[in-house]
Amino acid sequence: DSHEEKAEYADCEDLCTSPMGLCDTVVGVLGGGQLGRMLCQAASPMGIKVAILDPAKDCPASAIAYQHVVGSFRDMNAVRDFAKGCGVLTVEIEHVNVETLDSLEREGGDVQPKPFTIRIIQDKYLQKVHFSQHSVPLSDFMQIDNVESLEKASHLFGFPLMIKSRCLAYDGRGNAVARCQGDLMAAVNALGGFERGLYAEKWAPFVKELAVMVARGRDSRLHSFPVVETIQRENICHLVEAPAQVSVEVATRAVRIAEQAVGSLDGAGVFGVELFLLVDGQVLLNEVAPRPHNSGHYSIEACITSQFEQHLRAVLGLPLGETSMKVPAAVMYNVLGEDEGTAGFSAAQKILRRAVSIPGASVHWYEKPDIRKHRKMGHITVVGSTMEVARARMNEILSFSGQITS
Ligand code: ATP
Ligand code: MG
Ligand code: MG
Repeated sequence: DSHEEKAEYADCEDLCTSPMGLCDTVVGVLGGGQLGRMLCQAASPMGIKVAILDPAKDCPASAIAYQHVVGSFRDMNAVRDFAKGCGVLTVEIEHVNVETLDSLEREGGDVQPKPFTIRIIQDKYLQKVHFSQHSVPLSDFMQIDNVESLEKASHLFGFPLMIKSRCLAYDGRGNAVARCQGDLMAAVNALGGFERGLYAEKWAPFVKELAVMVARGRDSRLHSFPVVETIQRENICHLVEAPAQVSVEVATRAVRIAEQAVGSLDGAGVFGVELFLLVDGQVLLNEVAPRPHNSGHYSIEACITSQFEQHLRAVLGLPLGETSMKVPAAVMYNVLGEDEGTAGFSAAQKILRRAVSIPGASVHWYEKPDIRKHRKMGHITVVGSTMEVARARMNEILSFSGQITS
């Protein structure tokens, strides 16, 4: 009877909210940005409960999360308190307090992917060291902490030279390019000086940038999504084409390298793997994200299982879903802020309105309370019966707004 049932579930009261359905575990997500929001959206049809920890009251995930705890994912006490209400913890951003995740794990908490993985990835230099130790092909790189090592890097790698901040980098904020000897110190200073923690990377003369979302189950088995092409503008993802228009050989190589990289990490979840394709067909790893990724947004409309559903399945230990595309082609476009305030919002609205009039287009708006130049405000995915059709549809949306495609 119901009294007995109650007793049966009483000892997991904190973690279980209802005794039936697919899964009772509350998934706790550190971060409530657009990735957290889309995790909540994917969770909804399955009745999975996603709680988020984010300092902003009106963050994108707030309105639709099962629960929003207002607090910082960098703060030890906030993370600890939040974890008490969750059966498994995961991240939508890698810049979190990893020491706390480490200690929660030591105390028996369930964190996916593993804090070990988040620790390596959040420091891009450690990430490069890790992958080079695992024989993943990369551009040459070296730590720079003074003028001597900077000059040494420029002699070894030549120009242009890419200088990157080790930590807290996203959307290219953390990258500076030195085109010649005279540029070196300006690039270092633009990033906040050597004290920021920098490293140099040899320029990768890529012909295309590719990305692969790789899901890793709790049994460590890997399951990849199709290879996509990403087109960045000013270091920010501008367009994604799925599947990438590359040979089977190149696509196979990209998946092999992406799986080699993710296979060297630990824990469940989806991982976004960014790659460079060189003119001779060689593929190099750029970086890995331990979470859903901008290059995988197209999967919401275009794949049998979206990257967000796959992430939830992975961290919960459910079987991973089928990842193949259910349409022949898709193109995704990021709606970035062009302007601050009302002018920015109405420019964005114009393009969204245009998009909903185009067949095969789906509009995503993240409901960020403020708009800033280059800020990711939403995205549009267009599907089509061929890549040409999908591109033409996207061009119709973008030509209207004065944007030029690839
Ligand atoms: P994300 O938002 O993807 O986390 P990020 O700030 O971590 O971006 P990176 O991915 O390191 O930055 O670099 C951003 C872009 O800069 C890349 O997508 C690529 O276009 C360019 N880039 C990065 N490293 C190199 C390199 N070694 N050679 C040439 N171009 C590069
Ligand atoms: Mg990055
Ligand atoms: Mg990147």
